Amino acid sequence: MQLPIKITKQEILKIYKPIPLNSHKGIQGHALIIGGSYGKMGSVCLSSKAAIKSGCGLVTAFIPKCGYDILQISIPEVMVLTDVQENFITNIDYTILPNAIGIGIGIGQEIETQNAIQQLLFDNKTPMVIDAEALNVLSLNPTWLSLLQPKTIITPHPKELERLLGKWNSEEEKFAKTIEFSKKFDVIIVMKGAPTYIIDRETIYQNTTGNPALATAGSGDVLTGIITSLLAQNYEPIDAATLGVYLHGLTADIALPETGHQSFIASDIINYLGKAFVTLE
Ligand code: AMP
Ligand code: MG
Repeated sequence: MQLPIKITKQEILKIYKPIPLNSHKGIQGHALIIGGSYGKMGSVCLSSKAAIKSGCGLVTAFIPKCGYDILQISIPEVMVLTDVQENFITNIDYTILPNAIGIGIGIGQEIETQNAIQQLLFDNKTPMVIDAEALNVLSLNPTWLSLLQPKTIITPHPKELERLLGKWNSEEEKFAKTIEFSKKFDVIIVMKGAPTYIIDRETIYQNTTGNPALATAGSGDVLTGIITSLLAQNYEPIDAATLGVYLHGLTADIALPETGHQSFIASDIINYLGKAFVTLE
């Protein structure tokens, strides 16, 4: 196994693209966040807000009907499209032609939702981040993994990774299985944890930012929004993943003296994103 490449500020500065002076929202990229179900709309709010706060020009959330007021009231900057169903997603509309898609947060595992995910995977050619329950849907239907576009980014936490790969007996075996999976399906795996590793075939990247304040509800949903936003801005998938993970961790490092570990919540990741971006200017 190769030694991991550390994701340091020096490495990130080689990737980071400042927003051009003549930019406008039409060329900054359009991110589509797909997710939510009854009782889990907060995840889509967090993810969509993180996306719009990470530099893309436009964000649309695709959600079940029950989330319409919640989204529109919580984040006026985000546009909303709804499914025909009230409480979960059955038929995804992505005719807005987004530049990147982030799918899975709070989406549930209803059979109709699973079928809608399969249909999206069949049709989709857009760069994509797959997270949370959409990953569990793939674990339930492993043949669908062959539908993924090359360099799709998946962002499992340890339990989601285990569902995809099966159990491992050592750290070494976990990495070996993850590398094998990445090669087999040509996907980028953001192996979330402390620290987070990113696996792109045989290449392993190790994040250097973040602290236990990030171990809080909604933290991963925010990460999905950040990475989707960067993908929409035309970052290469591996660059979107490394820059996204780095910024996500950095928010917690910057916030720590002010919030402490205990009082830092996922919304604070979003609140501190600006300060994290400024360190790269
Ligand atoms: P999720 O479980 O999907 O909400 O994702 C949790 C996020 O928080 C991931 O990005 C993890 O890498 C991060 N995280 C969780 N615990 C820690 C920790 N102790 N130190 C650093 N990052 C963490
Ligand atoms: Mg999660």
